[in-house]
Amino acid sequence: MTPLRESEKLGKRQTLRRSCSADGRFNLELPGRIIDEMLELCGRSFPLETGGILVGFYSDDSRFAHVTNLVPAPIDSVSNRFSFQRGVRGVQKFLNQMWLRRRYYLGEWHFHPGGSASPSGMDSDQMKSIAYAGSYHCPEPVLLILGGDPPQQVTFESYVYLKGVRNPIVLEPEASANHC
Ligand SMILES: [Zn+2]
Repeated sequence: MTPLRESEKLGKRQTLRRSCSADGRFNLELPGRIIDEMLELCGRSFPLETGGILVGFYSDDSRFAHVTNLVPAPIDSVSNRFSFQRGVRGVQKFLNQMWLRRRYYLGEWHFHPGGSASPSGMDSDQMKSIAYAGSYHCPEPVLLILGGDPPQQVTFESYVYLKGVRNPIVLEPEASANHC
């Protein structure tokens, strides 16, 4: 399956963005204010990559992941033109605080300035190691990538990485997936 790209002209305020896997098993809900925040951070970082963490909760049947908080790049992150290494400083403490409020680590978000929103080999390797890392308690982390030139020209792609599965599961935007 070729990953679908969601090309869109983005205005100032975004609405809830839903995406899901072809079998409907994995659903991601991204509130408009989170997208706004992300676009703002990407615009500020341009032309360097940036990224961070997605925090939120799952539905009772674990089919839906709903993002409630966006964590910007920790201070020890390394941003370059074509790479981003997300730092760890303060992350565990923040996640512990969120845990008490039943908000959990869901995965990573990441920005490819002026580029496509497809994950690089390095991006995928990082996600696979997170799926295996006990410290995140997240065997099925999401990777959300934004590509392009925010805030006007942006593409989104999102994936779920499963432990022991070679290729990530593509989450298709609701607009082009009628099974969401
Ligand atoms: Zn990347």
